[in-house]
Amino acid sequence: MNVADSYRVAAALENLGYTPTNLPNQADVIVLNTCVVRESAEQKAIGRLTSLKSLKLKNPDLVLNLMGCMVGVHGYSELRQRYPYVDVFSQPSDPRPLIDHLQGKDLTTAKHQEISDILDTEFAYKLPPTKENAVVTAFLPIVFGCSHACSYCIIPLRRGKEISRPPDEIISDANALVARGVKEITLLGQIVDRYGQDQPGYPTLSTLLRKIHQIKGIQRIRFLTSHPNWMTDIIIDAVADLPKVMPHIELPNQAGDDIVLRNMRRGYTIDQYIKTIEKIKKRLGDVSIATDIIVGFPGESEAQFNRSVDLLKTVRPDMTHVARYSPRPGTYSARKLIDDVPPEEKMRRFRIIEKLQEQISTEINHNYLGRKVPVLFEGKSKDRWRGRTPTNKLVFVDHKENLLGKIMDTKITWAGPWSMIGVIEPASGQ
Ligand code: SAM
Repeated sequence: MNVADSYRVAAALENLGYTPTNLPNQADVIVLNTCVVRESAEQKAIGRLTSLKSLKLKNPDLVLNLMGCMVGVHGYSELRQRYPYVDVFSQPSDPRPLIDHLQGKDLTTAKHQEISDILDTEFAYKLPPTKENAVVTAFLPIVFGCSHACSYCIIPLRRGKEISRPPDEIISDANALVARGVKEITLLGQIVDRYGQDQPGYPTLSTLLRKIHQIKGIQRIRFLTSHPNWMTDIIIDAVADLPKVMPHIELPNQAGDDIVLRNMRRGYTIDQYIKTIEKIKKRLGDVSIATDIIVGFPGESEAQFNRSVDLLKTVRPDMTHVARYSPRPGTYSARKLIDDVPPEEKMRRFRIIEKLQEQISTEINHNYLGRKVPVLFEGKSKDRWRGRTPTNKLVFVDHKENLLGKIMDTKITWAGPWSMIGVIEPASGQ
């Protein structure tokens, strides 16, 4: 979501005539887009913000914009006091305060109006112009905010309540991305399956997938993140029916024990989660599953943690995003529950999950050896082409010709837990 938001700001800035630089000391404008979902992310953002102070002191004309979940949607007077050298504060997903600041600062009224008119159409989720011909995949937010309120999660407090974007706006953004050469679009939402449910008359996610599927030139569609309560048969059917919708489902579980899940306010049981996974695997066949697990949630005993281990052994996901619980300000768990699992114990549990997932991923990926899979190539890393299978596996290939944006049949010759190596099959491809 933050990558998409950052591109949105970059596109707006480039429309004002700014060009990107990788060197902070050459920049006229620096936007720090922040995540605070875990304490470690917030510490990183604070560290970066503090390090920018000396730049601002050296160059008072530098415009410093703090954006995203650190600012949130409920006011920022405290932040303004703590970081007086920041010029502009903006809520998640909103480039307007920065653009207004820059326009007010530099432009005549006539120029201001002219640019305002352009920006009204340019606030869409487009790629920055300098990304032309270089980006094969793009993220497209379809639901902002979240109204679920898991007991540990700060996102509803910082991104606000769930709001689905109008379908015509999404289709228009998707068309614009495809016109710029994007081949794969990933639709985003905190609970993406809930798309449309908050707005009377809006289509559901499966209907939206069907509409986007019709866009000429789009090759692949993905969506994330799903929630077990909202991953319905209709959505699974849409993935099964629509060849451009990739068989990869991100379905966070968070814990393997029903009492922990209840304390997390997730809204389902382990049994229900496993049944949903079974249904997905049965209907979609060659599908990959990713999940999230939090270790060391308040009160999580050794036995309860072991149930998370057992769950992963049962579900055998292709990927687990594992996080050590950290209390986040304002959340129910931070206010009412005691963070009683010591940091060393959280780390021990974290490593156990990591190691188990590495073993499961290795075993799953070994099944790809010798298989021919269609890989969409997204770019190069150290002279090798980098792409993804429909199941979202990362594949590297040595190849002389330009593969950017192409889907090529690729034979897998080596498979590790996190990536694979392949060769292009000469007789086929596109
Ligand atoms: N919306 C999705 C959901 O809740 O199913 C996932 C979005 S969240 C941005 C990404 C992940 O961060 C969560 O799935 C959870 O595993 C992790 N997370 C959120 N709050 C956390 C906290 N307080 N401590 C540790 N991990 C946390």
